Amino acid sequence: MIELEKFFKQFDEGAFEKHFDTPEACLKVLAEQKWSGGYKCRRCGHTNYCKGRSPHSRRCTRCKYEESAQSHTVFHKCRIPLPDAFMISYKVCSNHGISSYKLSEEMHLRQMTCWRFKKTILECIERHGDFTLPELERMRKKEDTSE
Ligand SMILES: [Zn+2]
Repeated sequence: MIELEKFFKQFDEGAFEKHFDTPEACLKVLAEQKWSGGYKCRRCGHTNYCKGRSPHSRRCTRCKYEESAQSHTVFHKCRIPLPDAFMISYKVCSNHGISSYKLSEEMHLRQMTCWRFKKTILECIERHGDFTLPELERMRKKEDTSE
């Protein structure tokens, strides 16, 4: 999995906006990143899946547990539409000091919403994190070193 900041910094703003203008495009990236090391069912550990109901989600072929591309990533339970959340991430990665007021103005979203999401992204940048939620990242790193 690629570091979040490195991922967003690959694009220039025009290309970025054009590429990630639909939730599907964002979900595709999240699925690619999240399952880059292979799929494993969170409930039963099975590694075979079929397509789920929402775009790029995966459903375990054994226990039928469905996981969306977004869940357990830094975009987990994100209330902002995904293309907007991607754009905020992009802006924060390009300029760590961008204010939530400026984001709010540019994105036409509430300042508090921008502030909260910016915090998540900045924390992720600081720990050189990828798209995974911090708790899960820590768990995975522990597993990696014990092998
Ligand atoms: Zn399962």
